[in-house]
Amino acid sequence: MSLLTRDNPGETHLMMGNEAIVRGALEAGISVAAGYPGTPSSEIIETLAKISTDIYTEWSVNEKVALEVAAAASFAGLRSLAVMKQPGVNVAADFLMHLALSGVRGGMVLLVADDPGALSSINEGESRLYAKLMEIPMLEPGNFQEAKDMTRWAFELSESLNMLVMVRTVTRLSHASGNVTLGDLPNPKREAFFRFDGDMLDPMEGPIMTPPVAFKHRAQQRKLELAAEHFETSPYNTYVGPESPELLIITTSICDLYSREVVNLLDIGTRVGIFKIGTTWPLPEKCVTERLAKTKQILFVEEVQPFIEEAVKVLAAGSDLDLSAITFYGKYSRHIPLTGEMNPEFVTQALCTILDLPLPASHDKNSRLAMPEISIPPREISFCPGCPHRASFFSINTVLSLDSRQGFTCGDIGCYSMGMLPGGFFTLKTLHSMGSGSGLASGFGKLRQFGMKQPVVAVCGDSTFFHSAMPPLVNAIHNSACFTLIILDNSGTAMTGFQPHPGLPVDTCGKPAPPMDIEGICRAMGATTRVCDPFDLKATQQQLLEFIKDDTGVNVLILRQACALSPQKRHTRAFEVTVDPALCIGERCGCNRICTRVFSCPGLIWDAENNRAAINSVLCAGCGVCAAICPQNAIQKKEIQ
Ligand code: SF4
Ligand code: SF4
Repeated sequence: MSLLTRDNPGETHLMMGNEAIVRGALEAGISVAAGYPGTPSSEIIETLAKISTDIYTEWSVNEKVALEVAAAASFAGLRSLAVMKQPGVNVAADFLMHLALSGVRGGMVLLVADDPGALSSINEGESRLYAKLMEIPMLEPGNFQEAKDMTRWAFELSESLNMLVMVRTVTRLSHASGNVTLGDLPNPKREAFFRFDGDMLDPMEGPIMTPPVAFKHRAQQRKLELAAEHFETSPYNTYVGPESPELLIITTSICDLYSREVVNLLDIGTRVGIFKIGTTWPLPEKCVTERLAKTKQILFVEEVQPFIEEAVKVLAAGSDLDLSAITFYGKYSRHIPLTGEMNPEFVTQALCTILDLPLPASHDKNSRLAMPEISIPPREISFCPGCPHRASFFSINTVLSLDSRQGFTCGDIGCYSMGMLPGGFFTLKTLHSMGSGSGLASGFGKLRQFGMKQPVVAVCGDSTFFHSAMPPLVNAIHNSACFTLIILDNSGTAMTGFQPHPGLPVDTCGKPAPPMDIEGICRAMGATTRVCDPFDLKATQQQLLEFIKDDTGVNVLILRQACALSPQKRHTRAFEVTVDPALCIGERCGCNRICTRVFSCPGLIWDAENNRAAINSVLCAGCGVCAAICPQNAIQKKEIQ
């Protein structure tokens, strides 16, 4: 049995932040959870799917649908959780705006995981602004215990207000681990029933919709006021330090831990107070104002946008108290970086500057206390050995180079986003949001009438196809745009851990499910569709060449080959691959060492001593593709039976 499902209140266990969130949801008695994979949020749905048999858990086709699936459960009186990373909130935002207004019934929580520093994202979005924009309460846990406790409380709050509640976590909380003391597990057996025949204005018995908008908006505002009242006495807003500190740190989320660590390190606990706000929106105004009145200097420590900083400054400006003598430090004063993740070094730097303290020895690179500098050999970000995407981009690049019209490729979101890097031969020329490669190609594909002759190619993955590439494909076909969509089908949502998608014959919990046929869907839409194995370079390139010459509409090329790390392929090799030293003549053959300089699979190495290419037998995944790129046929493959 997973420790997450142990019904032993009071026990303490080491948990990852995302596991603590799962435990909080279990203690709240959720019945339904839905989400779309995205780092750093993916473990939440994955864990729920593994451990709980009486919760309906689903990887939805995209974040908007996940929010709708979870909302339906709430409308039927159940408690439900919707999970996504920050860019997913952009996808869900349309329904979110309406759900915030219509209200919910069973407790419903939107769990959003932000990625400050964009460690695993292509933007550094700030989901907290959505709480303000959508006018919904938001909680930000500051440690692992709070990740569990605040998630549980968020459902109670939601149910008491009939309002969606947002919980925001960040990478360092979601993926790090800490001690969590368990609470009790309730019996979650509620019966689902959707009541709709009451009065239109009755939030519990009537139909659930946004009209009459003015009435619902007033009700929403009233609920926010009630949330703020709850927040005034919330135990998740904590203060440590002297009664009237020389400087007050106002912080939230994981930045609370950084602030505490630095105040201890600098031994300034008698001078500096730390006010951690866990109920970030709406601000608990009285509680904040009381703190403001007891100091003359404030440092805001938070990640990404100056969300708390702005809210507190607005509060101070409108306060009845004279707070004009306060000096504010934070992102606006540049004491805290405007971008990237926070860490204790930034807090140390800010505090030492403001309080005119010497930097501690650990900041001095020559000190004994300084962190040793670890020399890590530089390593290029690249596709894994045996990755089908390397072969696909090699072919796309080769074909577009053979054509003299300066064709280009619009990129999309997944492992294959690395197609913009040297490891992907700089193939991608645009990269934005999920599905936008196809949308941009749909637009580029209509520019023939303005003289554009360049072939237009777009790529997307199999999961992205279902998530958001289908509507632009429909758009392109219906509007007679002209481009080639290449679907890099590696049989799963590989980048985030092989979560299933509607193209696979299993559901979130691994049970059989009807697969959607990507090829059939594209054909039904009206696209000329072909399927190739990207490891067959010749066939792939011939087909792609044919497609980019066609100026009559939308063609779809599905390049199907499972990810090298997928459970079905891992630790298996199709070929034994070797370099024949008699045939490899390296620099002298005019190949320009295409194998190691251009194709650059990590399984291929340059043996400088012998002036020849060689196979790294540890890294080589035995895909056999490199055998097709050597002009001397020096790379040889033998099928492994
Ligand atoms: S293996 Fe082939 S491509 Fe690589 S260096 Fe030798 S001859 Fe050139
Ligand atoms: S066979 Fe060649 S391309 Fe495939 S993993 Fe091995 S070295 Fe890389």
